[in-house]
Amino acid sequence: MSEHKSEYTKPLPTITDDNRGFWEGCKNNQLRMQKCGACGHVRYPISHVCPDCLSYDFEWTTLSGRGEVFSYVVFYQRYHKAFAEDLPYNVALVQLEEGPRMYSNIVGVDSSDGDAVKVGDKIEVVFDAVTPEVTIPKFKLRQA
Ligand SMILES: [Zn+2]
Repeated sequence: MSEHKSEYTKPLPTITDDNRGFWEGCKNNQLRMQKCGACGHVRYPISHVCPDCLSYDFEWTTLSGRGEVFSYVVFYQRYHKAFAEDLPYNVALVQLEEGPRMYSNIVGVDSSDGDAVKVGDKIEVVFDAVTPEVTIPKFKLRQA
């Protein structure tokens, strides 16, 4: 069980009928995305229509949670006051095994160390329950 922080001040997602499948998956420690019912394409961000075949038919599918670092930056400047004490922090574009890419953070590394994370590093999802309602998917380096 992750501990719930009593005062979480960072921006939180608005949970809607469209994205509930994703956020409820996270709450259950599962990375779920939409899988097209017609062609099987797994898509993200959440969308009403398959970008490959334009079908509206989909189901939520649970992904492996594994992927690799596609791109990676470290932020040294504060753009939102709630992130001030995290500086420097990283933001990674994650290439998931099933195809989609998503933005997240790599946890468990020292972001001030420029060599801590490299493009191509193998990673896997971890779940950060930041409030009772919202669990945010993040990633950690995976041992080979
Ligand atoms: Zn499709």
